[in-house]
Amino acid sequence: MSRVYNFSAGPATLPEAVLTQVQQDMLDWQGSGMSVMEMSHRGKAFVSIAEQAEANLRELLAIPSNYKVLFLQGGAAGQFAGIPLNLLGDKQAADYVVTGSWGKKAVKEGAKFCDAKVVAQPQGAFTSIPDPASWQTRADAAYLHYTPNETIEGVEYHWIPDSGDVPLVADFSSTFLSRPLDVSKFGLIYAGAQKNVGPAGMVIVIVREDLLDRASTQCPMVLNYAQQAEADSMLNTPPCFTWYVAGEVFKWIKQQGGLEAMAEINERKAARLYATIDELDFYANPVDPVSRSWMNVPFTLADAALDGEFLKQAEAAGLSTLKGHRSVGGMRASIYNAMPEGGVDALIEFMLDFARRQG
Ligand SMILES: *Cc1c(COP(=O)(O)O)cnc(C)c1O
Repeated sequence: MSRVYNFSAGPATLPEAVLTQVQQDMLDWQGSGMSVMEMSHRGKAFVSIAEQAEANLRELLAIPSNYKVLFLQGGAAGQFAGIPLNLLGDKQAADYVVTGSWGKKAVKEGAKFCDAKVVAQPQGAFTSIPDPASWQTRADAAYLHYTPNETIEGVEYHWIPDSGDVPLVADFSSTFLSRPLDVSKFGLIYAGAQKNVGPAGMVIVIVREDLLDRASTQCPMVLNYAQQAEADSMLNTPPCFTWYVAGEVFKWIKQQGGLEAMAEINERKAARLYATIDELDFYANPVDPVSRSWMNVPFTLADAALDGEFLKQAEAAGLSTLKGHRSVGGMRASIYNAMPEGGVDALIEFMLDFARRQG
C-alpha cells in the first residue's frame, strides 16, 4: 500500500491517524460487535458518538451556549435554500457579497425565495474582496451572506465583516476549523464536511438561538433548524458514519493542539507555497496578496501548454489531484488541515525541479 499526497479540493484528504482509527473500529466499534454504519442512530452507542463529536466541536471553536450545532444532510448547497427558508421571517430582502463561484451559486438559489441582492462583487475576475465601504447593504435585509473562503478561486477573508444589526451568515465549507474563530460575530455559520471535516454527506450548521423563531411554514422539516435542534439533528436518520468520522477528526485536531496550532501550521504551509509561486516567473497566482487563501492555492504555469506534462509528472511523484477547476484552469493545490507539511514541501520541491528542467 502506498498513499499519495492528495491535493483534491473535496472530497479531500483525511488525517492518516483518523483513517487508521476508523479501520480499527470498522468491524467492532468499542466492543459493540458492529460497525458504526450498522448501528441504530437512536441507540446508546451512536448517541454517545454524536454527543462527543458535538462537545469536541464546541470546545475547539469555543461555541457560546446560545448557539445550536446541527449535523444535517444536503451538503452546503442544501443550505443555500435552507438559509432563506429559515431566516427570512417577515422580511423580503437578503444581501449577498459574492467573491467567487460558491457565493454566486448561493445568491442564485437564494433568489428562488426572496429578493436576493448582490451587494458587492469585484469587477472582472474573482481575485479580490471589494472594500466594505463600497458594499450596498440594506438595513432591512434578513441577513448578509458571504463566503469566507472561495474554494475554486482561492480568495479568503482574513477578517470578519461587520454587518451591524443584520445577522451575518457565512459559508465556511472550505476553511472551517482552519484557525480560531469568534463565533459570536455570526448569526449562522455552515460548512460542508468533505473539505476540512470528514467524508461527504453532511453539513454542520451553527446557528444563534434567537434566529430559530422565523422559519417559513413551507420550510421542509429536514431543513428546519428549530425542529432539527429540538430533535438533536435526528428528526430523520442523520448521516451517521460521516458524523462519527468528523468526531474522530475533531479529536485529532485537539491532539494537534487545537485551532491555534492548526492556524500556525496552515499559515506556514500557505506562505511557503505562495513564496515559491512568487519567486519563480514560471508560476503565477492572480489573487490579491491580502486575500490569498490558506486552504486552496490556484496557480498557473507561464506556458499553459505544459499543464498536461506538469500534472503527469506530479502524479508520478505521488502528488495527486492538482488540476485546477475547469472554470479557472491551471492548477490548484488544496492544503487543508489534513495535508501534512511534508506534502507541501514535496510539492514545492517538485515545482522547483519542474521549473528548472523546463526553464
Ligand atoms: C464545496 C463547497 C460547497 C458545496 O458543498 P456541497 O456539500 O457539495 O453542497 C459550497 N460552498 C463552498 C465554499 C464549498 O467549498
